[in-house]
Amino acid sequence: MSATIAVAEQAYLRSELERRRTRLQSALSSPPATNSLTTLLDEVDAALARMDDGTYGLCKTCHDPIEHDRLLADPLVQFCLDDLSREERHALESDLNLAARIQQALLPQPHLSASGFHARYHYAPAGLVSGDYCDLFQSNGSLIFLLGDVSGKGVAASMLMSHLHATFRSLANVDLPLDRMVQAANRIFAESTLAGQYATLIVGRASENGTVEFVSAGHLPLLHLSCSEPAVADATGLPLGMFTNATFSVHRLQLAPGDALLVYTDGFTEALNSDGEEYGIARMKSFAGGCLAKAPDNLISDCLQDLQKFTSGTKPTDDLTLLAIQRA
Ligand SMILES: [Zn+2]
Repeated sequence: MSATIAVAEQAYLRSELERRRTRLQSALSSPPATNSLTTLLDEVDAALARMDDGTYGLCKTCHDPIEHDRLLADPLVQFCLDDLSREERHALESDLNLAARIQQALLPQPHLSASGFHARYHYAPAGLVSGDYCDLFQSNGSLIFLLGDVSGKGVAASMLMSHLHATFRSLANVDLPLDRMVQAANRIFAESTLAGQYATLIVGRASENGTVEFVSAGHLPLLHLSCSEPAVADATGLPLGMFTNATFSVHRLQLAPGDALLVYTDGFTEALNSDGEEYGIARMKSFAGGCLAKAPDNLISDCLQDLQKFTSGTKPTDDLTLLAIQRA
């Protein structure tokens, strides 16, 4: 067995291949059988044979291990990314473009004023697609805001992001308390993703009277910008998808008119300057605190400007999302 793939992963891939083999055989036995099914069955058999002789998961050209997330997504891949043919590379690029378009279409409108709050966000994938998750909508008279970060990068992460989007949009239609909503989303996420895939997330519900309820599933602290010191609400629970039976607690904040909340992903706070130092939560807190009473638009553009200044404009390496909501 190849030492490059964990034993459990290999066992999972073997059972996947065997299941697909059974499917193909039954599809082949019901006419009209096509050549492409026979070809696929041959490929599955060849993959199982590679597992037996220990060459499974190694690139046919350079013999280096193939990227794990690609193998998990398609157990039949035989070449590493560097050794794809021109056609395969072209197909991959058009998949990426399509994924990017799907993801763009899932984003909420950039401005939303509802339930006595103004909301604005900035969403910047590092590549074509992002593992960051952001949503804003009105539900049962409240403003719901969501911001999260899915494990991994690229298309796989963007698929998980659309999964979360669909889950929360559906759950929001059922008028659940916030903790029950997150518990249900966690269960669905845990049961439908692979081991090791999870998401950190903040879900908030802002109401007309200035009350904001929120749940944090292992996400970075939320900043409450008010007339007094900016407060860091780092009440945090477990990330989504880690344990099916995890429970989450709801936290409450009272926002005075003009108070704002700022949530963000680690693409912001973990951005590095030329000396390899992180931007950090402390700098964000002191900087954003100075922006008090700014409208969400200005708050976000000022934060991005300060980040640019800090990183001297170097190209970001991680997906970055910022969301600001302000009580009118
Ligand atoms: Zn290779």
